[in-house]
Amino acid sequence: MDPLKTIGRSAPADDVMHLKPPVDPATLAYRQLLDGSFWQRIPAYRGVDEVTFLDHSWQARNSITNPQKLLAAVQDLVPQSFYDDVIEGFARAPMSIRVSPYLLSLIDWTDPYSDPLRRQFVPVASRLLPDHPKLTLDSLHEQADAPVPGLTHRYPDKALFLALDTCPVYCRFCTRSYAVGVDTDEVEKVSLKATEDRWAKAFRYIGERPELEDIVVSGGDSYQLKARQVSLIGDTLLDIDHIRRIRFATKGPAVMPMKLLTDDEWVDALTRVVEKGRRLHKEVVLHTHFNHPNEITAITRRGLDRLHERGIIVRNQAVMQRGVNDTVPVMQQLVKRLGFCNVQPYYVYVHDLVKGVEDLRTTVQTAIDVEKAVRGTTAGFQTPTFVCDAPGGGGKRVVHSFEHYDRVTGVSVWAAPSVKPGYFLYFDPVDTLAPEIQARWADVAEQDKMVEAAIAAARDHAAATAHASSIRR
Ligand SMILES: *Cc1c(COP(=O)(O)O)cnc(C)c1O
Ligand code: SF4
Repeated sequence: MDPLKTIGRSAPADDVMHLKPPVDPATLAYRQLLDGSFWQRIPAYRGVDEVTFLDHSWQARNSITNPQKLLAAVQDLVPQSFYDDVIEGFARAPMSIRVSPYLLSLIDWTDPYSDPLRRQFVPVASRLLPDHPKLTLDSLHEQADAPVPGLTHRYPDKALFLALDTCPVYCRFCTRSYAVGVDTDEVEKVSLKATEDRWAKAFRYIGERPELEDIVVSGGDSYQLKARQVSLIGDTLLDIDHIRRIRFATKGPAVMPMKLLTDDEWVDALTRVVEKGRRLHKEVVLHTHFNHPNEITAITRRGLDRLHERGIIVRNQAVMQRGVNDTVPVMQQLVKRLGFCNVQPYYVYVHDLVKGVEDLRTTVQTAIDVEKAVRGTTAGFQTPTFVCDAPGGGGKRVVHSFEHYDRVTGVSVWAAPSVKPGYFLYFDPVDTLAPEIQARWADVAEQDKMVEAAIAAARDHAAATAHASSIRR
């Protein structure tokens, strides 16, 4: 019999050869998205109906910006001791704090210390760790690589345009804590006010650099742009002949997905820019920032479906964080859930060296291990690239591609031959190292020795392997 003839016919079940054992339903849990009036678990939102909760301006108006508002929302769900811890945590935070009611509703307040969303957005003093001695503000050198304020041109063909300095939420771990959010006692922010005068300078620079093809519009956060501003930025950039790609970066879908459902003006403005881009054979996409599968609910899916229906490509850039997504099951579930919602997992970053979040950073080794386990679980194009953006302006490097990595001292050495000469260093969190090494990090002279030893080892390695490479430095 011609086997092709049976294709398309429904064969009796017992005719089908199952070479694999039945799937464990637990592995499909990423398809079960939280639905219903989950926010009504929060005392302050008990009487909030769906229409109100889905209103993005209600979300913005009711965001939690201080411990008193937090207490007013969660009330007796948390013990006083936790609340005291939060008061102290807010006082010591280098970033301003802003948490949407949506996020607040997704936190398990019966176990706030281990909840992955609490860890990202609500600082508690008892879990803070001292910063790494090698940490500096603006660890990524964005200001040093900025030809005009708020425009970072580091890579040959792409630039990062920080359009504004506010976000729909503020993340404890923000890399741009040098610029984003209102001033706190800890950090006097460099002003990146959304002035169209500053934008004009940035647009002029972009127009004068024919090598630029790709602009990341970030901040701050594109969610905070008025619809009119989305159009202005999109139209202006698309009208520059050599610009081929624009990415609007926003954490919005992860922290306030209802805006995609209820802010028609903003979604329409974005859609028009995407469509204009398509007519000009240029690409306009949205880049977002989900870190944990719990951030993706049925509301998120509906919002993302709306973008998908309009042909808007969405990609995700996650940050690996301790106690949030630094395990294989969580990262696998995040990747699968994103794919399920038509979001392409693009990057997973090793956490940048940022002030006040040492408790969230992981080692490079953790990223290497999780990457190995995630690769192979889904389509290659849905598999994120795990990168380390080492301080000093070398840019993102694949975690497996270090020049040298001393797991004992936690020093990794990176090179970026097409970006910037020299070596770039990343440092694993000190508290993850052996006690005798922690003692060495407490001593300035020892710090330098550990760094020099790692660089020397990187040089030796480069010399020893040069014969095997056709690339000559
Ligand atoms: C991340 C980044 C980009 C975009 O890099 P991709 O690897 O293409 O996503 C551009 N400019 C700067 C300064 C960046 O940090
Ligand atoms: S949304 Fe992005 S830019 Fe804004 S605070 Fe969070 S990480 Fe920083």
